[in-house]
Amino acid sequence: MQRRDLFLSLTRLAAALAWQQVFSAGARAQPHPDEAWMTQDDPFPLGVASGDPLPDSVVLWTRLAPRPLQADGGMPQVAVPVRWEVAADARFTQIVRQGVVVAEPAVAHSVHVLAEGLAPGRTYHYRFEAGGQRSPVGRTRTAPDLVEPVRQLRMALASCQHYEHGYFTAHREIAASDVDLVLFVGDYIYTTQAPNHLKVRSHAQAMDPEPAGRTLADYRIHHANYKLDDDLRASHAAHPWLMVWDDHEVMPDYTGDTAPGLDDPQAFVAARAAAYKAYFEHMPVSPRRVPFNASMPMQGRYRWGQLADIWTLDTRQHRDPALCGEWPRSLMHGKLLWRCDAIGDDRRTFLGQQQEDWLAAGLAGSDAQWKFIAQTTQVTPWPIRSPLGPLTYAEGWDAFPAARARMMEAIAQPRVQDVVFLGGDVHRHVAANLRHEPRDPTSPIIASEVVTTSITSKGMSEVANAWIKAGNPDVLHMRSDQRGHVMLDVTPREVRCVFRGTPHPVRPQSKLRTQATYVIERGKPGLRKA
Ligand code: FE
Ligand code: CA
Repeated sequence: MQRRDLFLSLTRLAAALAWQQVFSAGARAQPHPDEAWMTQDDPFPLGVASGDPLPDSVVLWTRLAPRPLQADGGMPQVAVPVRWEVAADARFTQIVRQGVVVAEPAVAHSVHVLAEGLAPGRTYHYRFEAGGQRSPVGRTRTAPDLVEPVRQLRMALASCQHYEHGYFTAHREIAASDVDLVLFVGDYIYTTQAPNHLKVRSHAQAMDPEPAGRTLADYRIHHANYKLDDDLRASHAAHPWLMVWDDHEVMPDYTGDTAPGLDDPQAFVAARAAAYKAYFEHMPVSPRRVPFNASMPMQGRYRWGQLADIWTLDTRQHRDPALCGEWPRSLMHGKLLWRCDAIGDDRRTFLGQQQEDWLAAGLAGSDAQWKFIAQTTQVTPWPIRSPLGPLTYAEGWDAFPAARARMMEAIAQPRVQDVVFLGGDVHRHVAANLRHEPRDPTSPIIASEVVTTSITSKGMSEVANAWIKAGNPDVLHMRSDQRGHVMLDVTPREVRCVFRGTPHPVRPQSKLRTQATYVIERGKPGLRKA
């Protein structure tokens, strides 16, 4: 495992250097960009986005694609110069940074501008120009200075947006909200088709369920399909995003280099490489995250002044393969495990050794008032009682108990205070207390957990949900019947978690309501109902 991590680090370094060369070459002379390329069409139908906010920089994204549902986006196979501008005001009378980058056909004419030299804790506006056309204006924000005693941080927590299951109305609310950040914790696209009874709209193009049948063009078209949604584009244009990914960005339930039920591992790795590349091309992530083959560095750590440290974890790329894949150990296409003792193996990892060590060291050394660990899924155990005995959700931390125990130890042992886990994946709102020994009611509560429901993806039945909730008294709130997001209001004294929701499926004009509000007080792990 460690040798593999070292190899990955080296290949990433090589990829990042190659990327830097493209960028600096672009900044110097620009490798024959077609300056004359002009278009009457709008090359920006996929909108604009920003992300990775640091105190002095932010990443600005767009992709030129006048015909976004074509494999080439309707672009010629030439590099095209893209002008970018960052202004202090929405009318662009005070431009503070500007430049020209090259949109290369090799990356689907996407651009990831690292806009540097910005002031901390400020709102900025940005836009692009290419082919004689101007993009919509985006708004973004830099992180406060590292030593700044920040009084407030507002974040929208979101995940799981199957396009066919509903409308992205939750994003309309997020776009209109006064938040500093959107924290998206995975399942940004779904490559599966919804069954007819769940379908409220259709993907532009169905994906081949077999990895061998999937191409880079398929993933690009799929991402473009999602970005054509007005509410999703508005949410990106309004705020900087921090990205965590999960399985559906590639293929359902994949783990590391494998996916369930696949005969051809090579085909899966090729599909994963295509999926990672298309993901990079469509997300406002730092250019240093550029993927190399089937590997992309996703983990991150962000700081919001003295108020918060935010870790964004990658629980997919480095996790150990799923176990007990054969019936009767595996039920519901591998989603549930029955009597699978092998998951108890101490060596099993959910994050990969390198990421585990990095998180533990970061937590131990953090002097931020709050430590947010944003990751894909629910950390709190949710054993499922059945007439046959307990069942385990194969996709989450419950199937990696030793890895979870090590993470809890990394909090308990150095006595890291004020840790809050933020997750998604399970398509339900959850508020839960996390104990040092998660299943032991006598063990101390050492952290809090907030899980957001899905933007659209269907949840379990409320009956099943009630069984699960009954199985763990540390789950204070759990509802799977509504779609929405969680608004997190962070101050030095408390984190206020507002669970917003609307019934499934989400209609275009749905209004979200507050389902519940919970508060975490600083110095007192666990949540209480407000
Ligand atoms: Fe999901
Ligand atoms: Ca998932």
